[in-house]
Amino acid sequence: MSTKPAISFEVLARDGEARAGVLTTRRGPIETPVFMPVGTAGTVKGIRFEVLERELGAHIILGNTYHLWLRPGVDVIRACGGLHSFSGWQRALLTDSGGFQVWSLGALRKITEEGTEFRSHVDGSLKFLSPEISMDVQAAFGSDIVMAFDECAAGDAPPDVSRKSMELTARWANRSRLRFDGLQAEELDAGRTEATDLLSGAQALFGIVQGGAHQDLRRESLTRTVEIGFEGYAIGGLSVGEEKSVMWDVVSELAPKMPAHWPRYLMGVGTPEDLVEAVSHGVDMFDCVLPTRNGRTGQAFTSRGKMNLKNAQWTLDTRPLDESCSCSVCRRHSRAYLRHLYMSGEILASVLLTHHNLAFFLDTMRRVRQSIRSGNFKKFQREFTEGLDVYSRQNV
Ligand SMILES: [Zn+2]
Repeated sequence: MSTKPAISFEVLARDGEARAGVLTTRRGPIETPVFMPVGTAGTVKGIRFEVLERELGAHIILGNTYHLWLRPGVDVIRACGGLHSFSGWQRALLTDSGGFQVWSLGALRKITEEGTEFRSHVDGSLKFLSPEISMDVQAAFGSDIVMAFDECAAGDAPPDVSRKSMELTARWANRSRLRFDGLQAEELDAGRTEATDLLSGAQALFGIVQGGAHQDLRRESLTRTVEIGFEGYAIGGLSVGEEKSVMWDVVSELAPKMPAHWPRYLMGVGTPEDLVEAVSHGVDMFDCVLPTRNGRTGQAFTSRGKMNLKNAQWTLDTRPLDESCSCSVCRRHSRAYLRHLYMSGEILASVLLTHHNLAFFLDTMRRVRQSIRSGNFKKFQREFTEGLDVYSRQNV
């Protein structure tokens, strides 16, 4: 097996704990901090890949193993040459392990040492997912970044429950690593590329730190995950019902202690102000369904805060959604028109709002990177956060 790494990560500038860098995957470089649009079922809902690539400049998206494994199924994706070739997305792809989605099924699942048994939300059939199966599936998908199979405890779980979950996650991380390495040694990865001077052409595997709201468990989880050794490290199990202050206690303590020479990924978070705050603690990667999901329910994220187009106050408003946004939706359409589309149940309302929301998230990260490079990150964060309060002060 090649001794070259599957990805490389270089930090090019620091401002406080915030870092700006480049993550190079086998499908090209990605500037960090980066927001990854969520492509649950092999599609970022409501937007074409051409738009994501050309206008919005997205270099990496996320796919959900759980959803794609159930439908269309691993056999279909394998037979079609992996997820890149099946879906037509040619840039970098990160897949989660399915652990979180199964966890969020709640009562429908049963967790044992071996793995998780659950009922499919598609057809009600009994399914079983384990670290080994998750690695096999993600290899068949050919994702460029694979996530270890983890177990998540509820945000308000007591220490003994969180400990059991964290220890199981550590054992599953070890099993994920072993199976993953075996698959790579046999070159059983659908997305494999030629090795370059820098990279091996193989998949990369990220480990996930758990431990709920308990700092000692988080520290232990980090130590055990780093001992196994991964090409990137994620903070999992946040934004799952705990108080926001708990999330920031964990992120601000944990992120700066994560290995500095590998990317740090905060899973499933969050609002634009959350992303900027997490960057200030040294996080490099994010994913969240908010821009796409809220786009489909008539909500727009703007530099002055969140707008709800259901609100009658926009009926005659001829301004763009966000006067400081240069996306093609804001260049062409008014709030009045977008509200009309939404109220009429037009498909285009979802398409245009999703487009603008993703443009806003990706542009925010671009500005974050610039401010870190020029040493103005704190000033940017203060002005950005103040701007987001405008609408809430006006109570719209
Ligand atoms: Zn816009």
